[in-house]
Amino acid sequence: MASDSASQSSPDTAPPSKHIRLTSHPGQQGTGGAPAIRWGAATASERGPVVGTTTNRSQRNVIGTHSGSYGVYRALAVAAGNLVKGHRADLTNTAPTDAIGPHPQWSDAERIVSIDPWGASVAEVFGELIAGGIDIRPTIAVTKAHIHLPEIKQALAFQRLQVDGKVLLDDSSAVVTKIAIEPVWWLPGVARRFKVSEADLRRALFEETGGMYPELVTRSDIEVFLPPIGGQTLYVFGDVRDLADPQVTLTARVHDECNGSDVFGSDICTCRPYLTHAIEECIRGAQETGAGGARGVGLIAYSRKEGRALGEVTKFLVYNARKRQVGGDSADKYFLRTECVAGVQDMRFQELMPDVLHWLGIRKIHRLVSMSNDKYDAITHSGIEVGERIKIPDELVPADARVEIDAKIAAGYFTDGAVPTATDLAGTKGRGLE
Ligand SMILES: [Zn+2]
Repeated sequence: MASDSASQSSPDTAPPSKHIRLTSHPGQQGTGGAPAIRWGAATASERGPVVGTTTNRSQRNVIGTHSGSYGVYRALAVAAGNLVKGHRADLTNTAPTDAIGPHPQWSDAERIVSIDPWGASVAEVFGELIAGGIDIRPTIAVTKAHIHLPEIKQALAFQRLQVDGKVLLDDSSAVVTKIAIEPVWWLPGVARRFKVSEADLRRALFEETGGMYPELVTRSDIEVFLPPIGGQTLYVFGDVRDLADPQVTLTARVHDECNGSDVFGSDICTCRPYLTHAIEECIRGAQETGAGGARGVGLIAYSRKEGRALGEVTKFLVYNARKRQVGGDSADKYFLRTECVAGVQDMRFQELMPDVLHWLGIRKIHRLVSMSNDKYDAITHSGIEVGERIKIPDELVPADARVEIDAKIAAGYFTDGAVPTATDLAGTKGRGLE
């Protein structure tokens, strides 16, 4: 956050102060004693740690703070007296379950601009700095899980999948490595990715967050921003190391959050059916025996970009506007209704999405379970080869979601079938608000 109490020198012992000292101007506190960040440097020590602590401002070398939007809850916890200001995480036994990288992509400053490639291994690569008192926190965590999904049980019952005791267990659960990632934006690279000037990017970020981060416009010397947005979660089926081997068949879906469908089974879109279909494809791909007896590997990259990153309130407003318009919900007005409410069709900006694929070392996706032309273009333009594209099977599209999928196919989404005409779109109708 932009301001902090003046008690930075000894946060645990100093008396509470009502005085707020802004650190938004060079020459005050800030990066004087903080480690330098050289984005894209070849090694962790040359690159330097990302330090977003709010405890000791002299250590900070970024704008914003850790945990994305949850940083606000941390502030509430401090305000409510539930959290001691300056608490430092005890990282004992928190190390990643799987080693990832370093991959050559990590030292290409333009290849990865929105996550910290070293974010999972800070306790290891910056151990000396942490021991020396610098509050360096992981921005990536890697763990293991077994996931139980009714759709996978069904795939087993219909013998589309088989238990193999490795990827898929007797109790119908799938074994995964799951990885949580917080956004870490290197502003010069993010600006170039969007083909805007860094100054314009900083000004828009400052103004459109209501002036939440004055350092965006006053501290051009600080290049890294921890934005208060949702991050990503990866689910890997098979060996994580295989993701970086283009010889191992990779089945992957990059999925954007849709709470209504993903979690609650709402039938107005194809999100959950496509996600669970992709999980089934990932499991099958990870089990398949390829050349030389090698298994494949599967990846679901799940981004917290609810409702095309417009948010769920906007999304539900659009649902009402679609279903109440003259003539009812129809595919030919699908994008128009979103634009009328939100001003745009989409704010997901797939330009940053491939970063996580490069972080994993991916060079080829053999089977991409996505119909999105935006995702396909972003992935291939970033230098990753894509083989086959897998569309959602027609029988998995809920009746009320026909409006969405037809509108998207007409707008350029991948299909191996016919592209709907304008007349077709006008005839694709959704349910009313009953
Ligand atoms: Zn959805």
